[in-house]
Amino acid sequence: MSKYWSSIVKQLDPYVPGEQPKVDNLIKLNTNECPYGPSPAAIEALKTQAAESLRLYPDPNSDYLKEAVAEYYSADISQVFVGNGSDEVLAHTFMAFFKKRAPLLFADITYSFYPVYCGLYKVDFEEIPLRENFELRVEDYNRLNGGILIANPNAPTGRYLELDKIEYLLCNNRDSVVVIDEAYIDFGGKSAVELLGKYDNLLVIQTLSKSRALAGLRVGFALGDTVLIEALERVKNSFNSYPLSRLAIFGAAASIRDTSHFEAMRAKIIATRNRLTTGLTERKFEVIPSLANFVFARNKTLAAAELSRLLRQKNILVRHFNKPKINNYLRITVGTEDECAKLLIALDEILEKEVLKNN
Ligand code: PMP
Repeated sequence: MSKYWSSIVKQLDPYVPGEQPKVDNLIKLNTNECPYGPSPAAIEALKTQAAESLRLYPDPNSDYLKEAVAEYYSADISQVFVGNGSDEVLAHTFMAFFKKRAPLLFADITYSFYPVYCGLYKVDFEEIPLRENFELRVEDYNRLNGGILIANPNAPTGRYLELDKIEYLLCNNRDSVVVIDEAYIDFGGKSAVELLGKYDNLLVIQTLSKSRALAGLRVGFALGDTVLIEALERVKNSFNSYPLSRLAIFGAAASIRDTSHFEAMRAKIIATRNRLTTGLTERKFEVIPSLANFVFARNKTLAAAELSRLLRQKNILVRHFNKPKINNYLRITVGTEDECAKLLIALDEILEKEVLKNN
């Protein structure tokens, strides 16, 4: 705290991202990154852009990238917004649609950046408790609101909400913008983008950080009715005219156009997720059904905080949230086959020791 800080800064409660350690040889299953590299075509595009032309500003509208997204989703370029990571797209969304008299609604267990943006933009919110086993009931959202925000699949639980449930929210909240944060949609869920033509109150947000292995490039996008996109452009152009670098625009577009690399990677991750789920279940973990590139699980013998600490000693990082309702769960990113096999071996060693200790 300092006398130089504004009153807004004094009140902020910033988001804490998962650890990005500076040491090598770690099995990093804590931040939901892709364990495989990005599309070779994307890397080629980045190399081409790493050139003399960097002296020039990029296209402020990122049209080349918007065209790639529009083409992929058979949408119009006017229905696409792009930003510096989906976190930035989300931030502009809060500013553009959620500062209303009635509160924004989101689940009590969801992406912990949402309340942080509420703090930054002074958006009132109400957390709607998830039901048994972290299930979301759409009927719980039938109340006065200034917007609805759903992560689908949810983070950190991995649970997926079917599209008919999303349609229920869209139909019953015609005066609010319903935002679906699809950061993890490519790992088995069906995107709500297909509902765009039917609902002008729908905004879908996605990222290239997970299924396209480009977390380091920082690119996210939104698809929605032209009127919603115009609102986001107004916010963006009042904040930063050039949020995407030349590298980001061309690298991301090449990645989106490389559908064969994308399909192969996501199929691999889905297969490993299923094997990891089986392996954890065999080791007395209760695993929440996941359609994401991570699983959320608790062990019946050892507490999550202790498990996470012991895994760390073995150079394996997983994510533990010290929060009510979920403090006995671990969120484990789906790594390579080899990384997940090593995780299971480490768990065997840890749990075996625990059994010996207790006997
Ligand atoms: N939404 C959800 C649900 C997430 O888990 C994340 C990743 N932390 C993001 C959005 C932001 O991703 P990025 O800014 O890398 O696009």
